[in-house]
Amino acid sequence: MNPLPNCENIDNFNIWSEIVKQSVDSIVITDTNYVITYMNEASEELFGWSFEELKGKKPDVFNAEPLSEDVQKEIYDTVASGNIYKGELLNKRKDGTYFYIQIKVSPIYDNKGNIIAYMSSQRDITNQKQIEEKLQQEKNFLQKLIQTSPVAIHGTDTSSNVIIWNESSEKIFGWSSEEVIGEFLPTVPEEGIDEHLTLRKRVLSGETITGYEVCRLRKDGSYLYGSLSVSPMYDQRGNIFGILANMEDITEKKQYEYNLKDALNQLESIHFNLPISVWSATVDENGDFIDSYISEGVNELLALPANTIGNDFENFFSRVVPNYLPKIMDKFREGIERPGKIMSFEYEVVDGNGEIRWLSSSGRAHKKDGKTKVYGSTVDISKNKNAENSLIKAKILAENSNRAKTEFLANVSHELRTPLNAIIGFSQILSTNKSGNMNDKESKYVSNILKSGKHLLEMINDILDLSKIQAGKEELEIENVDFAELCEDIKPVIDPFIITKNLSFECILDGTDTNIKVDKTKMVHIMHNLVGNAIKFTPENGSIVINAKRVGVYFQISVKDTGIGIPKDSQKDIFNIFKQVDSSTTRKYEGTGLGLALVKSYVEMHDGDIWVESEVGKGSTFTFVIPQNNHNN
Ligand code: ADP
Repeated sequence: MNPLPNCENIDNFNIWSEIVKQSVDSIVITDTNYVITYMNEASEELFGWSFEELKGKKPDVFNAEPLSEDVQKEIYDTVASGNIYKGELLNKRKDGTYFYIQIKVSPIYDNKGNIIAYMSSQRDITNQKQIEEKLQQEKNFLQKLIQTSPVAIHGTDTSSNVIIWNESSEKIFGWSSEEVIGEFLPTVPEEGIDEHLTLRKRVLSGETITGYEVCRLRKDGSYLYGSLSVSPMYDQRGNIFGILANMEDITEKKQYEYNLKDALNQLESIHFNLPISVWSATVDENGDFIDSYISEGVNELLALPANTIGNDFENFFSRVVPNYLPKIMDKFREGIERPGKIMSFEYEVVDGNGEIRWLSSSGRAHKKDGKTKVYGSTVDISKNKNAENSLIKAKILAENSNRAKTEFLANVSHELRTPLNAIIGFSQILSTNKSGNMNDKESKYVSNILKSGKHLLEMINDILDLSKIQAGKEELEIENVDFAELCEDIKPVIDPFIITKNLSFECILDGTDTNIKVDKTKMVHIMHNLVGNAIKFTPENGSIVINAKRVGVYFQISVKDTGIGIPKDSQKDIFNIFKQVDSSTTRKYEGTGLGLALVKSYVEMHDGDIWVESEVGKGSTFTFVIPQNNHNN
């Protein structure tokens, strides 16, 4: 405490009063009852009141808010006991504006050491306060930022003891801040200590390190991968007092990278082990290749040592048989112009052994950022090509031999018919037994010769007709035919057989328009054949019905009988040449197995279709349709 010097010891009391008066600090003096007895100029300036206005008043007028009892008591007690009170208060000027002051209140003694007055000095510290507040706000903001950052932020002192540990660190590592503050950084695994210490040394020497990938430990013992950024923390004097670290958890990213690498490895080994080559190329706006890739499989495809082709398309194309190159280039260009569309080309190459191989390449272009990327694959199709060629050869051979067979059959049939007509003609004359020289047995033999001859002729005629069709020599002669009339024409021919077997026969025509455009001779042949079979395979007292109607653009005719029926597994076969349900030598029904084949050929010549529905023991229905508007009609 520095009490004012005794005035009596001073030559001039005015010196002291001048000092107080001129002081840049505000000085207010009260008596022991705290009534203002003096205010210097600085205090008048500070508070905006003149001494005259406040003379005799208490300094409470300066307080922004009435002082709390505790503060008041503290001030009174301090100064009354002869001590100096120091503090900070929020004051108010005369104009009502607030400001902070730093205040010092001290007692004034008389010669005998009695307190006779109190002197208070005030200094405006509003600016300082504002700076402090601002600093505090910034500190709070930074703390909040650190706490709420999604990145794990932690700070350590120079010995790696934790001093900052934000919420994300708690979340990512599992330790709460209470558990780690003051402790050695627990996230460094044992095997990472050396690396940590090296890092620490670098940062403590002033270095900032960013994006450093580390492996760190969680509280549960599991590991995580982080991208670490560390920088030194400086105190006010510029000395490093610790290290601030922020770490992004990149475990998922690492796992993803690992999976990707794994997938790529797998893909690569698949490429490597497959007899296939994948390739890609980037083409710029001018159509130039920017980069190209050809997988290793290409060397196997070309029977070349590994790495011969590399990623060089030119190298590859040098193996292609030259006359394919323009076509390949055309297709490639076309593919680039039409992104998303598949381009494919087959071509021959000369492999490493000098042998020709067939390859097939296909790919697709994608447009991105003005560039076109083409992805594709190439496979060896030599086997398929060879098989295809053998097939084509076999087909040509088969067609040739079939033609030869047809021609042969036509020739043979023709040659057979001439003598056969003679046999039939002469046996017919003989069968009349005009001379009466033949006995019954001989007559029977002659009629057998006649019957067999006719049968043979029928068969030869059928073969001849079929051969003609197969040779493409048979033509349709289309005319208007009334199907109702055609049915009437059939009746007299079949009547004798109908009567012999006591069969019922009916022709049902649906609708009045029964006109069709067909080759009449062939139509009659079809009907004779189907009705003939129906009679042949239907036991006595059965029935045969012809049904005809229009179905859409077709004219549909069916022949239904109540005969022996056809087993399911034979129903398709019977339309083939020489196919019979019973082909044994002891079969009950005569026939050549040619009739239905011929019928089918005739129907198909009319652009129609034929099929059978049948149940063994119940009967069969043969149905065929002929379009009304086909080009033949
Ligand atoms: P086929 O001269 O033997 O009658 P088709 O080609 O006309 O020769 O007939 C082939 C076979 O189809 C016949 O042998 C017979 O087994 C069977 N078939 C044809 N029509 C009928 C039918 N209406 N009922 C039962 N079976 C039939």
